[in-house]
Amino acid sequence: MNYNIRTATVIGAGVMGSSIAAHLANSGISVNLLDIVPKELTSEEKEKGLKLTDKKIRNKFANKGFENIIDKKRGSIYDLDLSNLIKVGNLEDDLYLIKESDWIIEVVVENLEVKQDLFEKIRPYIKEHAIISTNTSGISINNIISKMDEGFKKRFLGTHFYNPVRFMHLFEIIPGKETDEEVVKYMKKFGAEVLGKGVVIAKDTPNFIGNRIGVYAQCATIKISEKYDFTFEQVDQITGPLLGRPKSASYKTVDLVGLDILYHTAQTCLNNVDPSKEDISIFEFPDFIKEMYENKQLGNKTKGGFYKRVKKDNKKEILMFNPKTKEYEPMSKEVLKEVKEANEEKGLENKMKKFISGDSKVSTFAWEILRDVLLYSADNVPEIADDYKEIDKAMKWGYNWEVGPFEIWDILGYDYVINRIKKDGLEVPKWVLDLEGKKFYKEKPATKLCEKYPIIEKIDEVAAVDLGDGVVGIEYLSKGNKLSLNILKFMIKIVEMVEEEPKYKGILIGNNGKNHSSGADLLNVSKMIEKENYEEVEDYVSIFQKTGRTLYYSKKPIVTVVQGFVLGGGLEMAIQTHKILAAQETYAGFVEVGVGIIPAGSGIYEMLRRQQEDVKRYKLSSTLDTDKHLWETLSTARVSKNAYDAMKIGYLRERDIILNSQENKIEKGKNEILNILNNGFVPNAPIKVRVSGETGYASLKYVAQAMLDGNFISEHDYEISLKVAKAVTGGNVPSNTKLSEEDILSLEKEGLLALIKTEKTQERIKHMLIKKKPLRN
Ligand code: NAD
Repeated sequence: MNYNIRTATVIGAGVMGSSIAAHLANSGISVNLLDIVPKELTSEEKEKGLKLTDKKIRNKFANKGFENIIDKKRGSIYDLDLSNLIKVGNLEDDLYLIKESDWIIEVVVENLEVKQDLFEKIRPYIKEHAIISTNTSGISINNIISKMDEGFKKRFLGTHFYNPVRFMHLFEIIPGKETDEEVVKYMKKFGAEVLGKGVVIAKDTPNFIGNRIGVYAQCATIKISEKYDFTFEQVDQITGPLLGRPKSASYKTVDLVGLDILYHTAQTCLNNVDPSKEDISIFEFPDFIKEMYENKQLGNKTKGGFYKRVKKDNKKEILMFNPKTKEYEPMSKEVLKEVKEANEEKGLENKMKKFISGDSKVSTFAWEILRDVLLYSADNVPEIADDYKEIDKAMKWGYNWEVGPFEIWDILGYDYVINRIKKDGLEVPKWVLDLEGKKFYKEKPATKLCEKYPIIEKIDEVAAVDLGDGVVGIEYLSKGNKLSLNILKFMIKIVEMVEEEPKYKGILIGNNGKNHSSGADLLNVSKMIEKENYEEVEDYVSIFQKTGRTLYYSKKPIVTVVQGFVLGGGLEMAIQTHKILAAQETYAGFVEVGVGIIPAGSGIYEMLRRQQEDVKRYKLSSTLDTDKHLWETLSTARVSKNAYDAMKIGYLRERDIILNSQENKIEKGKNEILNILNNGFVPNAPIKVRVSGETGYASLKYVAQAMLDGNFISEHDYEISLKVAKAVTGGNVPSNTKLSEEDILSLEKEGLLALIKTEKTQERIKHMLIKKKPLRN
């Protein structure tokens, strides 16, 4: 059977149902979102004269879900236009919608009977080859459908999304006893390629993989903490990044997710895990946590959990709950000595080793926390997953751990962990002792292009590799993929080489990391400033511009593959290539004003050029309008919320491609280059841009002045915005003058060089380098 999901029905429009519907629409799937019909009217509805027969009331719950989908603050949907793919309805009038659906996913309350009744009810409407699934977080998949017919069971499985659906990468697939292999295979591919998720195959056991290990890790931390007298703040220092876990560590994570969610997940283990196989008392909470749960101290959503944010003397402060006094009290903010020392080491491996190796209370606590999770994970293979690697993936994708339990085991050393566990009087599972090669991962999976493909040329900060089929890959390797002078020179050289050598067909710029590039190399610039060597700054800017224009005029096609942050100079280079393939999660922007400068790597010129090339898309009617749009974008350092937003702002063009999935993106980028060539590649020619000149400049200056007068911007922001205005409008030329690329490039450079000499810009740069965030002075 060839399965092909194009239309889906999501049943249940609550927290998860609505965000799953949004994510399906994000992936281009048409969705019906159905929920129950309310049984009675609220007094407010009665007052308004509404009736139970009114459509508005009948669709009330699904409508509420839809409102959440389009709520900008939640950001579940990438673009409001995509919400047109979603149809809302109810489970009485609109069941017919199910008939057309290729996938029906149940996302109703976590109650076995409710779920069973629902499937009975919708069974007659499900078409023959539709796939059916449940998003249950803990109920047995096989129990849910125990009463259904064989044909149904074959097409049924668990599809477990994590909250928030857009951002959490993990997608657990839980086949039932009778699920057809073909269905599992299809959903695995669909989950990865269409939904862009990280798929793991789990077994039908309590809480599946991610939540089983995740809730254990959390409960074990609470249990072990009882032995030691650490505050929540201290536990969070110990159980965070030094153990390969997120900064929110333990208690902050519970506050973020909600104590109720942890409570219910732990309850699922307590009620369903076989007590003859493991000690389930770990899932019992101490009295003070039970009390917190009863008192609805659930975390951020109830304005207080283990921590509470308050405002004191107009300043934000975080207080910590004291279980003894039952009061929220100030935190000590003192960093533990062991944490400080471990953080001085380089790289996670050294940090973690140093952290757990001492015999202090902190180190012992940290080791015990790690040890118990490693052992629990190992003890549960193959019970919860046939392959231990699935556990590592689930923890990284569903809990944002930097490394999974078995990767940690390898980091610390196979023998070291076994010996220390034995020394603690505990038993290591046989399969681990028998592990071939005494390593969980024989080879680290190559993430860097330069580890995977033959190297053509490489320096510390950048590599050129042979991607095959005549395509050369350029991969930035510097910290934050910042573009140093060396990288820029290297890029020019590679473009020249590719142009010259007939065996090369084109260039792909990209990487497999989280982010594309955080822009220019500010540290380098700040060193030049320190020496007051402004000529060097000017050279750097010139090379930046030259690189951008070399990419733009390349005689062979260049494609950039971007994801995550694509900032400043990184964005300037990307937009001057012939095509961009962008991840949905692309946060692109010219953030130069944040460090007191303006884009000067020919980015302003390219933005002006493309706006004029494609005026209709920007819906801008005059040159002044175009210039104003760009001026606002640059002066406010507007960063896109996602790739669709980047397209609306103009960082991406219609010819650029938004990728649903990050799987094989380098291969896809390479194919794009070959496609461009197949369709007949014509290199770019120089183009003049029309500018609004003096009139435009005066008008933008007027707006900036009003913002300064209204205290919306600082004096220095005002100065910067005038420099942007000058480059964007062309400055002292009559309105509608056509300026050459050189004219705009020299205005970019002039603006940047004037600003870089000011004290305030220098303060901004220093602040960014030290504090890693912009200074508004
Ligand atoms: P929710 O309470 O926000 O939404 C449940 C929805 O089900 C509501 O819209 C409700 O109107 C509807 N509903 C109630 N009774 C119904 C019935 N008899 N028939 C049909 N619909 C009915 O819950 P949620 O958090 O969205 O969870 C939904 C499912 O997803 C649960 O199985 C839950 O365990 C699972 N899940 C939740 C999370 C999470 O973080 N919230 C994460 C993963 C999985």
